[in-house]
This record gives sequence, structure tokens and C-alpha cells, in this order.
Amino acid sequence: MFFSPAQIYPFPGTSLAEDPEDIQKEVLENYAKDLPPIYLDVVQHADLSTLIWAPLMFRYPWNVVFGKLSKQNITVAGDAMHPMTPDLAQGGCSALEDAVILGRHIRTSFVQNGQVLVLKNLSEVLGKYVEEKRWHVTLLIMWSYISGWVQQGGSGRGMKFLRDAIFYKFLFLKMVKYVNYDCGKLDF
Ligand SMILES: Cc1cc2nc3c(=O)[nH]c(=O)nc-3n(C[C@H](O)[C@H](O)[C@H](O)COP(=O)(O)OP(=O)(O)OC[C@H]3O[C@@H](n4cnc5c(N)ncnc54)[C@H](O)[C@@H]3O)c2cc1C
Repeated sequence: MFFSPAQIYPFPGTSLAEDPEDIQKEVLENYAKDLPPIYLDVVQHADLSTLIWAPLMFRYPWNVVFGKLSKQNITVAGDAMHPMTPDLAQGGCSALEDAVILGRHIRTSFVQNGQVLVLKNLSEVLGKYVEEKRWHVTLLIMWSYISGWVQQGGSGRGMKFLRDAIFYKFLFLKMVKYVNYDCGKLDF
């Protein structure tokens, strides 16, 4: 019923190190090599049994816009609905917002039906929740992806121009405002 998430790192066809020692080495010698020594020190002293590496996942925005996100009395929330790259730190926030919005719609139906949850209305209730979320999370997925792409896109001249003259000047504040989302209140 649902589209599976896409993977952006590692790129399809490449693999992630599984051995904790390889992970530590890769971080120290590659990904974090330019970070201040204090950070490298943390990685160097990490308990190897706690190191894991997993791919970054996101869902293509068009799959959220056009996808079927509920069916009868089943729906999805959180990462199951809208996995996104971590660049706006919104995955967990929007999972919590999902819970509030879903709870709000269920409560409204409960109150309207004389304090009874009418199961045959549940599909309509879930539909309202999905429609309230659909565009917001679609744009979050897009903004997160763009934010990561621009900020981690290297220091080439074109990317630097895009980042400094366009992204930080015009887009960044819009994104910050966008994540400040009012999901309403649960009045119990
Ligand atoms: C390193 C890192 C940093 C992050 N930082 C931020 C941040 O700063 N801000 C932010 O908003 N978000 C952040 N996120 C994203 C955030 O953690 C997730 O978006 C959020 O946890 C999603 O919540 P969820 O409930 O949808 O899924 P999860 O938290 O993944 O919960 C799903 C649960 O279902 C369980 N489960 C899976 N399969 C089954 C099964 N078959 N049966 C029973 N249980 C099952 C799993 O064990 C898990 O406990 C970060 C994520 C990571 C990895």
C-alpha cells in the first residue's frame, strides 16, 4: 500500500562498514577528520559495542502527496509516514505532531458522537488526519533535503554561491519559520 523509503546514504550500490572498528576508523580518518580534536577524542574513546551505522532514509515528496496514507482503520505516523533527512531536526518533532493531530481528530469524532468512538467513522477520521499532515510533511521532507544538500555540498564556487548568497539569505529563515508549526491542542 505504501511506497518504501528511499536511501540517500550510502548511495545505492555502496555499503556501510559493519565492524565497529571500521566504523570508528572511517569516522576518524574521513568524515570527522576536520573537526576539532575534542570531538575526535569522543569518537576515539567511544565504547565500540555502541557503534552502529545505518543509512539515511527519506520518502520522495511526491509519494507523500499522491500516496495512500490510510486505509479503512489503518494509518501511519512518524517515520513510517514521512522519513526525512535529519537536516532540520524535524523527524521526531513531526512524529509528536502526528500524535496530537491524530488525537485531536479522534477526540472530535468521539465528542460529536456522544462520547462514543464509532468504528465505521474511523476511516473518515484518519482521512482528516492524513489530509492535515500531507502537505506539511511533504514540504518538510523537501526543505530538509535541500538544507542538507546545500550545507553539505562542498566548497566549490557554485555551491558556495548557492549556500551564502541564496540559501542563507533567502531560504533559511523561511525554513525556520516553517518548522515552527502549530499542530493545535489536545483538549481533554
Ligand atoms: C541520530 C539521530 C538524531 C536525531 N535527531 C533528531 C532531532 O534533533 N529532532 C527531531 O525532531 N528528530 C530527530 N531524529 C529523528 C527522530 O528520532 C525520529 O524521526 C523519530 O524517532 C521517529 O519516531 P517514530 O516513533 O516514528 O519511530 P521510532 O522512534 O523509530 O519508533 C519506532 C519503534 O517501533 C519499534 N518497532 C519497529 N518494528 C517493530 C515491530 N515489527 N514490532 C514492534 N515494534 C517495532 C522500534 O523498535 C521503535 O522503538 C533523530 C534521529 C537520529 C537517528
